[in-house]
Formats: sequence, structure tokens, C-alpha cells
Amino acid sequence: MALMKINFPRLQNTIETLAAIGRSDADHGLYRMAFSENDLQARDWLKSQIEAAGLEYFQDEAANIHARLNWDGKRASVMTGSHLDTVPGAGHLDGALGVLAGLECLRCLKEQGVDLKLPLESVAFTDEEGRFGGMLGSQAMSGRLTPELIHNAKDLDGHMLSEVMTHLGMPPLNILRARRQPESIHAFVELHIEQGPVLEQQRMCIGVVDAIAGLVRWNIRLLGEANHAGTTPMNMRKDPLQGFAEVAAALARILEENGSPRSTATIGYVNCFPGAANVVPGRVEFSLDMRDTDMQVLDDLAQAFRKSISAIARRRDLMFEYDEVSRLQAAACDSGIVDCIGKVCREFGYHSMQMHSGAAHDSMMMAGITRTAMIFVPSMAGRSHSPAEWTPWEEIEKGSNVLLNTLYRLASEAA
Ligand SMILES: [Zn+2]
Repeated sequence: MALMKINFPRLQNTIETLAAIGRSDADHGLYRMAFSENDLQARDWLKSQIEAAGLEYFQDEAANIHARLNWDGKRASVMTGSHLDTVPGAGHLDGALGVLAGLECLRCLKEQGVDLKLPLESVAFTDEEGRFGGMLGSQAMSGRLTPELIHNAKDLDGHMLSEVMTHLGMPPLNILRARRQPESIHAFVELHIEQGPVLEQQRMCIGVVDAIAGLVRWNIRLLGEANHAGTTPMNMRKDPLQGFAEVAAALARILEENGSPRSTATIGYVNCFPGAANVVPGRVEFSLDMRDTDMQVLDDLAQAFRKSISAIARRRDLMFEYDEVSRLQAAACDSGIVDCIGKVCREFGYHSMQMHSGAAHDSMMMAGITRTAMIFVPSMAGRSHSPAEWTPWEEIEKGSNVLLNTLYRLASEAA
């Protein structure tokens, strides 16, 4: 099959234009929180781009924005997409790249008038970054939301999702209607920056994602006895911070003995109470984030942590409590699409490698209803969720060319 190329100057121009929406003068970072003024401005701009390109514009009940080519509502579509919303102090590529490269691919296919067996859709998913829990739009599309989840969704400032949507004229419970039937989607492919250092370190320009890691996150409490730092002898203390230090020191060993090469474990938050220099701590709270692409490995790992922390607490006369605060199922990518992406890379002569995604993406949700894969491009120095986020333009061009040809091949398959 012949190789096609995107219109790179046009893509570069749209990336630069979107990068100016929601930019703060203070840290030069972007902030387009879902449903904020900046997000709404980006949505309006995207709508104008879709219409100017002569593509069909559609917004579903979860506020996901679709650009559509050859849409007839009957045949399954080949779908691509990512998100427009960002974390505070964000870079210009996380999410935006997948949305704008998707739009560019549809534009190219329309202009070149190629024969497509299936319609194409490029989607900007609502609230991927988690103002209201994360991956809201793709959860809606893949049928994971319930009325209860929608009613209870609240941001850190206490704003309810239902109020925010009602204010914008969108009935919140209608989000459930954004659900797509699996038969209505032929395949889903997302182009995204890696947000890690692996591709750059391996000198690869494309990462072909074969799995997205699942996650288990705990809030842990070690309870001892707060007491006077001067009068309590060392051998008569119940000091949970000493217990915590032992857990933190054992983390790498527990991971090595019970995890896979793809496992990670992170303590990202710790707080000590009452938190005074002259008081033996009485309570330590900390988080534990565990990830792997295999849920069985992940559950075994969590079990090993539970046993180790219990043993440490017992030895030090501490109480150990934990709550599971998050659980995301790992998602396997479709081997057929993974092969197709690899083949396109070889035909272009782009250096590529298979890898997994340690970060969650909309693809994780889409994998629940359709065959799915992701294309990664390198993140310089592995930086993301930061104004330092950067991918060289030539790598963006390569990644977008791979997306274009993958979508074209998928849309040329017999339904
Ligand atoms: Zn993202």
C-alpha cells in the first residue's frame, strides 16, 4: 500500500495556535481545566477548524467533540482522538497532539479523495485529566458511567459536575447517552507523547504501545503513640515514622521479588502527625501507587506489600490500616493494530519499538469496547505535565504520518 504524508506546516500551525489558548504569563504553562473558560475557548476554536476543513462537526452528550468524514451513522467508524484539557502548568502536546494530528489525518484523507470502506472520526474527549475523576468522556463513550457516579462527581473546589454541566446547558444524566455500541466502532488508535524517557534514551522515534498498565492506589496509615521526644526512651516508643522508613526502604526489594519488569511502585505522599520537632509521631499517612500491565501480577504485588507492611507494623507495635482509593484495569492493545503500526513504521524507515504505557489514557477506556492501540512519540528528557514538555517537530511529523497510514489501512479493511 502506498504511503501518504500529512500536511506538516498546517499541523504545526494548528498546534501553535492551540498552544496559545490558556497560556499563563506567570509560568508560561498552559491550563485548560475541563469546562473552564480556557477549555471552552479551545473547544470553540476546534469546532471552527473542523467546519473550515469541511468535515462534519458533532458534539455528543458527554461533550466529546467529533470531527467526522464519510459519516453515515450505519457503518462502524475508525476512530482516533485524545483530549484538549490539561493539568495546571501543562505543556502544549499532552492530549492536543492526538486531537490535532487526528484532525489533520481526516483533512488529508478528504483532500486526497482516497477510497475508504469505513467512515472516520477524530474525537476530543472531555476531562481526560481528571477535574471530575478522569477520562470522563471516554468512560461515557465506553459505557462505564452510572447515574450515581455522575451525581457524586465533584472537583477539588467542591463544584459538582452536574451543576457545571447544567450551567452550560447540558443535562448531566444525558452523559449516559454518549455510550457507543461496540459494533459502531471498528478500531481506535491514539497518538500521544510518551511522557517518559524511554524512546529518547533508546533513540527511537516511534513507540508502538502493546499494553496500558493497570493501577492500584492505597492510602495507608501507620498508627503508634505520640509522646515526649525527651522523656520517652528509645526502646519504649511506638514510632510510626520509623515503621514508614522501613517500608520505604523495602519498596525496591518487594517490587523486584514480586513484580514484573513492567511493575512500578511509588510513595508520592507522606505526612507525619502531629508534626512537631519535640514530639514522637503518633500517626503517619502515605500513599502507595502500584502499576503493571498484568492484573494478576499487580494483585500479587499488592498482596506482597500488604504482608510486608503488616510484618513491619507488628514488629514495631504499630497499627496498620489502608484504603484502596483507585483501581484501574490494565488494557491490552490489539495485536493486529500493533502489527499494522509496526509495518507502517518499517515502510517509512522510522525506528520503532514496542513498549507499554505506564500512564493512563483515553485508550484504556476505549479498549473496553473496541480493538485499540496507541502510537507514542518521544518526550525530550521525559518531561511532561510541565511547560518544559517538548517533542522535536520532525518526530511529531513522523508520528502523525504513522497515524495517517494506520487509520487509512484500518478504514480500507472490509467491515
Ligand atoms: Zn494525555
